[in-house]
Formats: sequence, C-alpha cells, structure tokens
Amino acid sequence: MTSTLNITPLEEWLPAGGSPLVIAGPCSAESEQQVMETAVALAAFPQVRVFRAGIWKPRTRPGAFEGVGIAGLKWLRRVKQETGLMVTVEVANPKHVEEALDHGIDILWIGARTTVNPFAVQEIAEALAGHDIPVMIKNPLNPDLKTWMGAIERLNQAGLTRLVAVHRGFSFFNRTPYRNAPMWEIPIELKRLAPNLPILVDPSHICGNRELIPATIQKALDLEMNGLMVESHINPSKALTDKNQQVTPSQLADILSKLVVRRESGGVDFENKLEALRSEIDKLDEELIDILARRMNVVQEIGAYKKANKITILQLKRWNQLTRDRIEAGIKMGLSREFILKLLESVHEEGIQRQIDVMNTDEP
Ligand code: PEP
Ligand code: MN
Repeated sequence: MTSTLNITPLEEWLPAGGSPLVIAGPCSAESEQQVMETAVALAAFPQVRVFRAGIWKPRTRPGAFEGVGIAGLKWLRRVKQETGLMVTVEVANPKHVEEALDHGIDILWIGARTTVNPFAVQEIAEALAGHDIPVMIKNPLNPDLKTWMGAIERLNQAGLTRLVAVHRGFSFFNRTPYRNAPMWEIPIELKRLAPNLPILVDPSHICGNRELIPATIQKALDLEMNGLMVESHINPSKALTDKNQQVTPSQLADILSKLVVRRESGGVDFENKLEALRSEIDKLDEELIDILARRMNVVQEIGAYKKANKITILQLKRWNQLTRDRIEAGIKMGLSREFILKLLESVHEEGIQRQIDVMNTDEP
C-alpha cells in the first residue's frame, strides 16, 4: 500500500499560532450561551486556532440527544465573527455538507462511524467535489488502516487537498483503560505511508475520561503528531454528550502548560551517541534477519522430509512444547510473554506456509 496523496500543507491554510496546534470545543453544541462562553474562553489561548462543536451527533441508541442541528451553524458563525477562530463541524451525509457549506463553516470533519463506511464517504466526497474546503478524517472505529487511507483517498480524488487525519483510537475487544485503544502503531504507519499528511490526535475519544488525557497528549507530541483535537466544555458535568472526557477551557490551558517539549535533535554529542546506538540496532537487525532466514531453510528441509515420509505438516504437540520452552527462555531474558508469543506465532505461520509450498511442489 503506497500513498500518492496530493496534500496542501497545514501552514498554507491555517493561520499561524501557538504550538502545539489545538482544535478545541465541546463534543456537542447545546445552546448559544454554552457555545459562546466556551469559544470565548478557548480563544484566549494562542494554541487554540479552531473551534469544534458537533451539531449532528451520531448516538449509539435512538432517543439520546442527537444534536441541535442547523441552529448550531448560526452559533458557530457567531463564534467565527466574535473570536476570529476558524470553526469546524462533523458531517455525515451530503445534506450536512450542503448546510455546512451554506453557513460558511471553515473546516469539516468526518467521524469514525462514517469513515468506516466507504459508501458514505464516497457520497460525501461527491458532494464536496469542486468545493475547496479542508476536511479532517477521523480513523474508522475498527483498527483498519486501509479503510482510513481509502477514505482519505476518496476525498483527495474528489479534488480536496487540504486534508488532515485525526487519530481517535480504535474499538477493541480487550479491556484497556482507554475508551478507544490508541494502537499508536497505526497512525505511525499512516505517517510512514503518507509523510505529507498531517495527523492530529483526539485524546478525548481515545481516553474517554479526563484523567488519562494529559499523558495521552504528551505521547502524541513525543510521536511528532501534528496537533490535537480536544473536547472542551464550559461546564463538563452538565454536558449532554461525552461528559466524562471533556475538560474546561482552563483545565485545557493547564494541561498544555505542563507539556514537555522534546526536540527532534539534541546537539552533536547527543547525535553521535544516538548514531552509535542506531548502528548497533542495524547490525542486530541484520543478524536477526539472517537467523530467521536460516531457521526457515531448516523448516523447509523438515517439510521435505515429512513429505518423503508421508507425515502431516502440523505437529501440535511439538508446537505446544516449543512455545512453552521459548516463552520460559524469553521471560528469563526479560522479554514479555505476549511479545514472544506474537513473534513465535508469526514465525510458525511462515514456517507452515513454507511446508505447504514444499508439499505442493511436484518433486517427490
Ligand atoms: C466527536 O468528535 O464528537 C465524535 C463523535 O467523534 P468520533 O467520530 O471520533 O467518535
Ligand atoms: Mn464526542
């Protein structure tokens, strides 16, 4: 999967401001007063350059507050006029797109429940064709990088180049302290595949509760993500949606003031030491690959031997014993059980495939 995205850099369309770039505002617009008070408080912080508020809310069950609808677009227009902040809303269908464009919304975002559905994304992309508006694409609910990338590509192919990805975590069946598991490897892989695409992090939907937010923001910055989208409400305890994960504007300012800014480079001595450690890693990786290749050759030889003697490939008893032994050995060396298991499973899968290939060749 390679990316051929045509992206206009953030700096070319977002007004300059404090660092990190922050998009903040309530999960939902609830009243004109709540929107205005929150926006005015947030506008005081140089990092906050865009005000967010959901007006059409995707809810898990019917009957819950589903957003204030079009009325909210007028409040956002007031925010824009009175604070100078850019404003953004979530759109989930072509009708939303039309209303948002008519009301002068600056940036649109596509939510996780929409990104997951290529039909819905395609409809939105078609509604947006010919409109030069920035769009942020949240990751789909499930940990599926291809679907996320596909949504970004659909918009790009409709001619939109001011695109931004938003990492908001993934639904995950294992229990984790997070509402949506961060699985940082996925946004990191997105960065590798599409280095020009800015990625923002939404710690609010990742965490699901206020307490985890500061560490998650720090992690996002340490991973060189390009900014944040944070839910902020003037009175979170009264919020109609996502009340546990919203922070007040002053709590947000406090979190931002405590972030540690780490530099990408740390001077000559630092670079030299880092270089030495990196070349050690390069050498070890080379050995690792050599060992894996040699191991696969032996596996293949076993496959040929099994074939000659008409023995089945999978020998479960041997595999179980081997797994137990390797995990025990790994733990003694300070490696985690989960890591060894994952590694062995991957090695085993490749080994089985090699043996299947041997069985399928015409040679005896
Ligand atoms: C939101 O930003 O309020 C929202 C609904 O987010 P997500 O699509 O990430 O769940
Ligand atoms: Mn929300």
